[in-house]
Amino acid sequence: MDYNAKIYVAGHRGMVGAALVRRLRRAGFNNLVVRTSAELDLRNQAAVADFFADEQPEYVLLAAARVGGIHANNTFRADFLYDNLMIQSNVVQQSHVHGVRKLLFLGSSCIYPRLAPQPIREEHLLTGPLEPTNEPYAIAKIAGLKLCEAYRSQHGSNFITVMPTNLYGPGDNYNLETSHVLPALLRKFSEAAAQAAPAVTVWGTGTPRREFLHVDDLADACLHLLRHYDGAQPVNVGTGKDITIQELADLVAELTGYPGEVVFDFARPDGTPRKLLDVSRLHGLGWHHRIGLREGLQQVLTSADWLHATQPVAALH
Ligand code: GDP
Repeated sequence: MDYNAKIYVAGHRGMVGAALVRRLRRAGFNNLVVRTSAELDLRNQAAVADFFADEQPEYVLLAAARVGGIHANNTFRADFLYDNLMIQSNVVQQSHVHGVRKLLFLGSSCIYPRLAPQPIREEHLLTGPLEPTNEPYAIAKIAGLKLCEAYRSQHGSNFITVMPTNLYGPGDNYNLETSHVLPALLRKFSEAAAQAAPAVTVWGTGTPRREFLHVDDLADACLHLLRHYDGAQPVNVGTGKDITIQELADLVAELTGYPGEVVFDFARPDGTPRKLLDVSRLHGLGWHHRIGLREGLQQVLTSADWLHATQPVAALH
């Protein structure tokens, strides 16, 4: 890839898009194109068409999406389905119309069946029912992946698809109603430690298992795949290791110095019991994660921005 190539990073204000911009800049790419959602509403077909006609990007990294944790996914079900379908349809179609050389689409590990064999291989897609709490988001992401596959088979487009596991890192969402579990626990335990609170509430039973990847590792994997992968098959991106929510709570309690009690709120849903990705395809392509969970969490906890990154609930609308 030419360092002057024009690369459009869609969703650069999000945690993933921002990490992609940092990684590309660090690698020396100097012709990045970005737009905030206020400047360009990716759900608007005509606006996206005008943008592509004006900018003519050569590469597109599609990290723009409506995202959130289990409660947000389960509550704003229409938004998660509609917004994601519109964003990805517009960006993929315009990438085709304007002859983009390569597009990278970001999916999610929640696209796989709720009870997929573990660890989950890319081939397990569409082999069983989805987890109900995030079905609309998963359906949208599956459609995005299939869109890329279909443009490749019908038009020969070099559109690749990447399925990251649960992510965390700088720029995460710390709103306790809409966030994922990891930022929620960092915030809850840090605040409880600071206020000497007697108990912290963790949602669900604590038994679900989740895999966590630092977003800087994901960005590095994406750059690796941009440079070295042109295949039709999706590629899982993860660490290949998972832990229970209870173990995560214990780790966060330790790292934040919280000595108090942990209470599980059984009224909150557990979601998928387990979604550990099989990362052998990625390892076969020569990429391996670098940032372990403990190290990554320490990094986030010591970074200055983490508590100020709270997104208001209104950001979802
Ligand atoms: P998921 O991976 O799509 O299920 O999304 P989340 O990251 O939101 O939730 C993962 C698991 O952590 C679920 O079993 C949640 O019930 C559990 N969990 C425990 N405490 C929390 C919390 O404070 N916030 C969130 N979002 N999840 C929590």
